[in-house]
Amino acid sequence: MHRIVVLSGPSGSGKTTIVKRLLAESPIPLRMSVSATTRPMRVGEENGRDYYFLSPEEFESRRVAGEFLEYAEVHKSGYWYGTLVSEMGRAHSEGKWSLLEVDVQGAMSVMERFPDAISIFLMTPDVQEYERRLRSRGTESEAILQRRLQTAIEELKLADSYRYRVVNDNLDHAVSEICRVLAAEAKHV
Ligand code: 5GP
Repeated sequence: MHRIVVLSGPSGSGKTTIVKRLLAESPIPLRMSVSATTRPMRVGEENGRDYYFLSPEEFESRRVAGEFLEYAEVHKSGYWYGTLVSEMGRAHSEGKWSLLEVDVQGAMSVMERFPDAISIFLMTPDVQEYERRLRSRGTESEAILQRRLQTAIEELKLADSYRYRVVNDNLDHAVSEICRVLAAEAKHV
């Protein structure tokens, strides 16, 4: 049976690194759901691999056509991100589970629509750690960083809405905890 795994958590919780590890190490075959976004492509990114990079007009027309399972303006950035329904179909036809890495708003929508989704909230041990990780990335201006930190504090309040909460204080531990969760969920299918 095809299932949806939603990995979410505030910026700085280490989602992207964990996703890479899960794709290689998960006990269940996972297929990454490639999201659509209106944000500009970054150096090293590839259309169709990292995201489907769409113009705001195209995003809007596909949204109106009902092509998105969920969508959100992330971090009040002015850029839109969304999960395409067609991505779920691809995973299904490959006999894999879909892995979605989305922001907290997106995760809430997915959980509402698919109460069976395996939702995992990734968190750091405390808020100071988010700030340290965001600063060490060094990619954001102070104003953006402060905004992301405020969002993180708000998002932490939603941790209890998820089926699982995983503290990412040690990457190996977090990955093996998620792998254990997936193996246990697979037994219920
Ligand atoms: P970035 O622009 O750094 O690649 O991603 C910024 C944020 O967008 C991350 O928190 C990521 O989880 C979120 N994101 C990526 N794809 C989606 C999506 O399809 N839907 C939603 N709601 N958020 C997404």
